[in-house]
Amino acid sequence: MKMKKDNIWVWLLLFLLYTNSATSQEIIAHRGFWKTEGSAQNSITALMKADSIGVYGSEVDILISADGVPVVNHDATVTLDGKQLRVEETPFNILRQVKLSNGEPLPTVKEYLDAFEKCKKTKLIIEFKPHEKKEREVELAQKVIEMVHARGLQDKVEYISFGIHFLHLVRQIDPQAKVYYLNGDMSPGVLSTMGVAGPDYNYNVLFNHPRWVEAAHKLGQKVNVWTVNKSEDIQKAIGLKVDFITTDEPVRAKEIMKKK
Ligand code: MG
Repeated sequence: MKMKKDNIWVWLLLFLLYTNSATSQEIIAHRGFWKTEGSAQNSITALMKADSIGVYGSEVDILISADGVPVVNHDATVTLDGKQLRVEETPFNILRQVKLSNGEPLPTVKEYLDAFEKCKKTKLIIEFKPHEKKEREVELAQKVIEMVHARGLQDKVEYISFGIHFLHLVRQIDPQAKVYYLNGDMSPGVLSTMGVAGPDYNYNVLFNHPRWVEAAHKLGQKVNVWTVNKSEDIQKAIGLKVDFITTDEPVRAKEIMKKK
């Protein structure tokens, strides 16, 4: 009888360890969940669709217009009537005329946050895109972090950037905020000296530096990997024990994670 009781405790412990490890990896929808009907990259629909499938996060890219309006867009330029316009040199009333592939107008960050307030599950992962002038980056970071705080959303928003300048800005403006570094050229040890929440690197970087995952965890950091779309790469990333997988295929990634 005693033996049986001991066995139950061992099985319970194994179950808890298993469920703990099974739930410790999360998915982030790259530019929202856009590979679905009526959606488009970085659209408000993509954000709401990401929330509807219950992923950890929905990623979005942001820039600032010439007249100081934070807007959602991936590239430094937009195309309007066959002309390429640099977002940071174009006033918002012109940028507003740009339509996304699902017909939505190019959104402002304010509109995005208004929609995000209605999300039940997903966090918003905001990527600060680089600008030519550093003062525009300061203006963007200040305005966006202020908007996030005004809505009381600071626990639901995380930041990412390729730009070291943005890492410092976020740390200065909101020392509690989580900010991850995208550029892949710094070890977790170096990132820890900068107060960064962890590496958020291209999957090739982490596949070449698998030990960075453990090193980051030992430093209390979380590890994200992007943009992992092929099933075999998703499996490999899961095997590396990264915390987050950023993908254009959130539904498939979820299924693969469930099976593991
Ligand atoms: Mg991005």
